[in-house]
Parts: sequence; C-alpha cells; structure tokens
Amino acid sequence: MDQEIQKPVRVKKEKPQLRQSIYSLLPEEMQTWLKDNGEKPFRAGQIFDWLYIKRVTTFDEMSNLSKELRDKLAADFELSTLSTLIKQESKDGTIKFLFQLQDGYSIETVLMRHEYGNSVCVTTQVGCRIGCSFCASTLGGLKRHLLAGEIVEQVVNVQKALDEVGERVSHVVIMGIGEPFDNYDAMMSFLKVINHEKGLNIGARHITVSTSGIIPSIYKFADEQLQINFALSLHAPNQELRLRLMPIAKAYKLPDLIEAIRYYTEKTGRRVSFEYGLFGGVNDQVEHAEELARLIKGIKCHVNLIPVNYVPERDYVRTPKNDIFSFEKTLKNHGVNVTIRREHGSDIDAACGQLRAKERKQETTN
Ligand code: SAH
Repeated sequence: MDQEIQKPVRVKKEKPQLRQSIYSLLPEEMQTWLKDNGEKPFRAGQIFDWLYIKRVTTFDEMSNLSKELRDKLAADFELSTLSTLIKQESKDGTIKFLFQLQDGYSIETVLMRHEYGNSVCVTTQVGCRIGCSFCASTLGGLKRHLLAGEIVEQVVNVQKALDEVGERVSHVVIMGIGEPFDNYDAMMSFLKVINHEKGLNIGARHITVSTSGIIPSIYKFADEQLQINFALSLHAPNQELRLRLMPIAKAYKLPDLIEAIRYYTEKTGRRVSFEYGLFGGVNDQVEHAEELARLIKGIKCHVNLIPVNYVPERDYVRTPKNDIFSFEKTLKNHGVNVTIRREHGSDIDAACGQLRAKERKQETTN
C-alpha cells in the first residue's frame, strides 16, 4: 500500500514591510508625489520647512497644510521610523544614540563635539558583510541595508537633541556601521537630501564618506564630481598585509585600489584621506610607515592614524605611544600630511559597532 509521505512544511518568516520615511525624499520628489496626489507642487517647500527647519514630530503640526493633505502624507509616509533606545553622553560631550528601526533592528549614531562644530557619524547598514578582522560592526554579518530616510533621520534626530541646547549639526561623517559603497544608491540619496538647501543644508565640504575599498564604486563616486570629502580605509602598506586585515583585498587588490584612488584625485582635484589603523605588532612599525610613504607617493592625500579601538571579540593590541609617534614622524619625514586621530567617547563604547554589539544577541533570535 502506498503511503502518503507528508513533507514538512517550512514556514518562511515574513519580513515586515518597511514603511517609507518622508526623509527619503528630495524636494523635487516631493513635488512629484504632490502632483500625483492632486496637490500643488509648491507645498513641497512648506513641507520641507516643517521637516527640516521647524523639525516637527507629527504631520498634524504642519498647520498651513489642509487636513486632507496631512492625512494623505500620513497614509503614504512615516515621519519617524527610528525610536531612541539609548542616549549616552560621555565626559567629553560625545553622545551616542542607539536607535531602533521599524523591524526591530538597532543601529548606532554618534555625535562628536569638535572646536570646529558638531559632527554626526551615521550608520548605513544593519551590520556589515566586509568582514574586516579588527572591526566590531561586521561580527554578526549583514542584516540589511538602511533606506535613505533611515540615514537622514539619524541626523535629524541628533539635530533635534541639539535643538535643546541651541546648537546645529555642522558636519556629517559616513563612518558608522556598514559599508556605504555597498549601499550606494541609498547613500547617494542621503547625501543629496542632507546637502540640499531645503534639506539639512550641510555643505558638501562638511561631509565625509569612508569606504573599505569597493573599486567599481570608487570610480562611480569619482564621476559624480561632488565636493564631498572622501576617505579610504587603507590600514596596510602592501597587499599581503592588507589581505590579512581586510578580506575585501582578495576581490579588490591593492595596486588596483591605488589606481582607483589616483583616478579619484585626478578627476575631482580633491585630496583623499587614508585611514590607517595602528594594530600593535601588525602594521605599526617604522618599516611599514616607510612602505606606506612609498605606496602613496604623489597622491594628493592626508593620512589619519587611528590607534586600534579595543574590541573584546578581537585580539588586537594598542601600539605603544612612542611607536605611534615614530610612525607619524617617519611619514612626516617623507612629506606626508598626517594626523593621529583623537579618541571620542571611549568611556561610552563610541567606536563603531561597540554599543550595538551589546544589543546584537537579541537580533540573532529575530
Ligand atoms: N565601511 C567603511 C566605513 C566605516 S568607517 C570603511 O571601512 O571605511 C570606520 C573606520 O574605523 C574605518 O576606517 C574602519 O576600518 C575603522 N575601524 C573599524 N574597527 C576599528 C578598530 N577596532 N580600531 C580602529 N579602527 C577601526
């Protein structure tokens, strides 16, 4: 007798539908939406005023819009897709935010206080798939890309916190969790919105984007011809060492990467920043500095030395102070522009991925 075999049914967990944040839109996109909804395009200016100048928290506060339009906006968009889980202030004024997204994931955003202004470090992905051996952000892999609006809202939320003390976000660095060039389109929309005079109006020269080195996107970015500051996480003076630190060097080899960087500096006329993490006993000796100087010779650049941030899951150690200074001096002797990065908020886990790593256990059960 034939027996019917019942195959186990695999129930696929439905991914929650993400509602669109109104902060994803440029003024011209808002105008299109208005036209499509039978409204006057000039309303876009009013809406942007409410969002970015008055910084309201509900659609109903947009008092010069009809109730009907406010309802339509509320039906199609979210005004806030992030909620603040943690806000931690460090002794040096650094504030770290842990935000929860619509689907329950959490992301980090950091506000740093400098003499020259207030700088916000934004996250572009939930997790990261680049796999750098020293980095906390990549530990759980990539969960998902952030939408442009989710990146904009990070800056808007920090601005709202600064409103309480009458200060303004003047600078933005895309150096939080994630690889911005792996979420290129959302990153570009984000840049356009925060740079737009009707948006946050943050000057291009006050914005910095950093990549681990996705070569095709570097060419694409160079061709955008923006005035935005560009940083490359280099971390090693040769292919072999870079590959040990950053698996991305397997797909995108150092000589090709340097060629792409030269293309960027020539095409844009702008200098590039090289981020160079000093990992004790790995890449921090004078001979590495010599090799680095040779590698970047002739490139319009600046080198940022970052003494390694301690990550419990990683076993890298700090370079002794004297060695850091010797490294810096060697580069200077070769005529390289170099600075040692000052630490911000070390008492509150402000380095990328550190705060979120503490929350990550919850996500693995998602
Ligand atoms: N994915 C992009 C954006 C992250 S920027 C990039 O790689 O550039 C964050 C910077 O901090 C990068 O230069 C990254 O390599 C560096 N970084 C990450 N973990 C670090 C650690 N433990 N110590 C020092 N620098 C670290």
